[in-house]
Amino acid sequence: MNNTNFDSLGIGASLSRALAEIGYDQPTAIQAQAIPELLAGNDLLGIAQTGTGKTAAFALPILETLIANSVRAQAKCPKVLILAPTRELAAQIRDEVASYARHTSIRYTCIFGGVNQNPQVKTLAKGVEVLVATPGRLLDLANNRHVDLRQVSHLVLDEADRLLDMGFIRDVKKIIRMLPRDRQSLLFSATMPAEVADLAAEILDRPTRIN
Ligand code: AMP
Repeated sequence: MNNTNFDSLGIGASLSRALAEIGYDQPTAIQAQAIPELLAGNDLLGIAQTGTGKTAAFALPILETLIANSVRAQAKCPKVLILAPTRELAAQIRDEVASYARHTSIRYTCIFGGVNQNPQVKTLAKGVEVLVATPGRLLDLANNRHVDLRQVSHLVLDEADRLLDMGFIRDVKKIIRMLPRDRQSLLFSATMPAEVADLAAEILDRPTRIN
């Protein structure tokens, strides 16, 4: 723990209010390091395990940037794309985004395979600022034009080592080719084998490294 608080890191009133309500009194170490870097627009390579507070470390500054710029997504065109290896992790990230964004008008959803796609298609059609997804279902929906990734301004790859272990590398690369080049990109991984390092080198632009 340290003496900084979320306000001093640059997190504004509506998110700070939610954090106070859910009992986040102080940023964790990874949050204190990551939040100012991400608010400054830098790419980020984070070597971090679950349990460190990494979800808030990336979600809070991205949400703050959307709020500060009054960003509103068009139908089917999310602004933030968070890729996760499993439906459980994707749902957990969505739940955290929901609790941080409770006093904002930010819209979010989570999509994954193994369930009927129709509700997902309907939600995307209304427009969401933040989309959390597993790669396979996202690629299906993108190929069928239910989602358009050309307006994504922030990309997060969470648990990149597991994404690769689970065989998602080709899907992830196809998805990345659908994104604008001009974007902020973040990659988090518990371990850094060569394949993850290669992927990081490919998608990140002069990233800040955080351990
Ligand atoms: P994560 O590493 O993102 O999976 O987060 C681990 C757990 O820590 C989650 O249950 C979060 O809700 C919680 N958490 C994250 N940041 C803080 C914080 N600054 N203060 C208290 N709890 C936190």
